[in-house]
Amino acid sequence: MSEEFNLIEQYFKPLSQPLNEGELGIGDDGAIVETQPAKQLVVVTDTMVEGVHYPKQTDPYDIGWKLVAVNLSDLAAMGAEPKSYSLAVTLPSVNAEWLESFALGLQRWAIPLSIPLIGGDTTKGQQTVLTLSAIGEIPTGLGILRKNAKVGDWIFVSGSLGSAGLGLKWVLEDREGVADTEPVQRLNRPVPKVALGQALRGIANSMIDISDGLVADLGHICTASNCSAWIGLDALPISEAVADYIDVAGEQGYQLPLAAGDDYELCFTVSPEKLEEVLSLAQQLGEPVSVIGRMGQPHARSAVWVCERLEQCEGIVSLEHSNAIGTPASAYLTKAGYQHF
Ligand code: ADP
Ligand code: MG
Repeated sequence: MSEEFNLIEQYFKPLSQPLNEGELGIGDDGAIVETQPAKQLVVVTDTMVEGVHYPKQTDPYDIGWKLVAVNLSDLAAMGAEPKSYSLAVTLPSVNAEWLESFALGLQRWAIPLSIPLIGGDTTKGQQTVLTLSAIGEIPTGLGILRKNAKVGDWIFVSGSLGSAGLGLKWVLEDREGVADTEPVQRLNRPVPKVALGQALRGIANSMIDISDGLVADLGHICTASNCSAWIGLDALPISEAVADYIDVAGEQGYQLPLAAGDDYELCFTVSPEKLEEVLSLAQQLGEPVSVIGRMGQPHARSAVWVCERLEQCEGIVSLEHSNAIGTPASAYLTKAGYQHF
């Protein structure tokens, strides 16, 4: 038996879960999944490269956790319900301990959400490269896109911003004793907002998940929707650790909540008449959400604008006096979001 076959049988086959009648998982040339009437499939893919997306010494359990979580976050940002996933791994060698722990990490979200591993590919290569594709489902036409934000929409984010970026900073500084802190946990073990994303179908006009930083990702909504976004610094939800950091760093500390990546929160826009509905829905789900700003008309100078206080951008819809109210977000940032190349 080939080593590749052994590896699949031993580490990945156990991650398949019972499928519906007529479906087919690992073992043939392809997987077969049932499609439902009046539903559409949403397909997402994310890759993690050793040395690029995580340092070599990262706990393989955390790598598995994050690989599934970031894909679930993409599905959530579309409003989709996760259904199954496939996995392509390129490994320089077979390390049993690493693989066992990685597989356990994959199961962290796959088991509670009942999403089976239905196939993949396994190859040898010089560097570890992990690619996961996930399939989700939405009622036909109810996917939540980047392009449908409207002038006057309130801008929301879930959870809090900047913690993962602070965690990354600490890890890169080789700080001791930070492994169990909130920022480093947020970096290594992101929590995808799966239920919130689905609950916003038919409510949010537009949505994105924050992987590259708020300004960069909200900027994508602006571009796709031909709007500007006005956010209040005082409304950005931040953890205690990030607040402490800003206390010391001063105004430039706001780079963390504005531009640091890896938070995997949802950023979405909502028509004014649905504001209350979102607040009560979030409360029902136990998912904290915050209003951080408002969508305005397209602005030639900048897509995303920052005001000191949320109340300053509340009336921004008309853009009168805009320059007196806000500052282009770039003024706060040395680097808006993660640059891939
Ligand atoms: P083929 O040669 O037809 O591409 P493979 O030998 O690569 O088939 O894979 C055999 C089966 O194992 C297929 O069903 C494939 O989807 C599955 N598989 C391969 N690698 C993985 C993996 N890393 N995780 C899950 N399933 C896998
Ligand atoms: Mg193959």
